Amino acid sequence: MTMTPGTLLADDATLEKVATGAAWAEGPVWIPARSAVRFSDIPGNRVLEFREATGVLEVYASDAEFPNGRALDLDGAVVQCSHGRRAIERDTGTSDGAVPAVSTLVDSYNGRRLNSPNDVVVKSDGTIWFTDPSYGIQKESEGHLGREEYGDRYVFRFDPSSGELTPAVVDVEVPNGLAFSPDESVLYVSDTSRGTPAMDGGERLHGHAIHAYDVVAGRFARNGRIFTEVDPGVPDGFRVDVHGNIWTSSQDAVRVYSPDGVQILRIPVPETVSNLCFGGDDGRTLYLTASTSLYRIRTRVTGAAAALRGGSR
Ligand code: MG
Repeated sequence: MTMTPGTLLADDATLEKVATGAAWAEGPVWIPARSAVRFSDIPGNRVLEFREATGVLEVYASDAEFPNGRALDLDGAVVQCSHGRRAIERDTGTSDGAVPAVSTLVDSYNGRRLNSPNDVVVKSDGTIWFTDPSYGIQKESEGHLGREEYGDRYVFRFDPSSGELTPAVVDVEVPNGLAFSPDESVLYVSDTSRGTPAMDGGERLHGHAIHAYDVVAGRFARNGRIFTEVDPGVPDGFRVDVHGNIWTSSQDAVRVYSPDGVQILRIPVPETVSNLCFGGDDGRTLYLTASTSLYRIRTRVTGAAAALRGGSR
């Protein structure tokens, strides 16, 4: 179902800056039990929370080992990417007033360390899919310098019940954001290799597209193709709404694409947008991290099921 732009945003919706002071804000997730958006200030090496009821920005964790993207798992715990620990972690500190309680879920592939997991989504079967580019071992401000131990950058599928870690996508140069279509038949993965130097110094691709894959048998990503190129900038993080529209970050705006790849809405943002999530008590507020600040705008839609775990309830 393709929606017209007028049906995507609430009447008189305006973009509102609700918090600022981050060095580079990323990884937002709505946590219902706290009525808060939790997000990362990656160079600041801390985790921040914006409390919707009070409008107060709180420091949830400092010396946090450079976390990045987040989603909620089937139990409502936060699954987060750690640049510093090169790991996927679970933080069960999600009830009101709880403090960080972080444990590592996975940090290596075939005995080699992951690069620096960037963004994550939890599928309805409980498997955790995440991207593993190299920003956190390539940029001193975003982690600890290191090398690509398995020699590439993959999208992985992790099954927490068996501990099995399997490469799902191996043909995106710098995989970054990811999300499933509402029925989980399509996996979207963004490539942010534009402006990203290759660690091996060789000639590499410079993409800025969202790729789409058919999900076969619930676990294999096949038939990869370009869904849309995003310009200016790159599609860092993005979410899918209940109608299958893709709401993505870009340099100068949030852009919304219909499931057939047509841009149907552009919301100008005064700072470079990194990522976004649906949230608020009714799930219809879009929160976006953009450079130093957190913004929000009221919509008429909620996130798709997987995006719900990534963004709202
Ligand atoms: Mg990202």
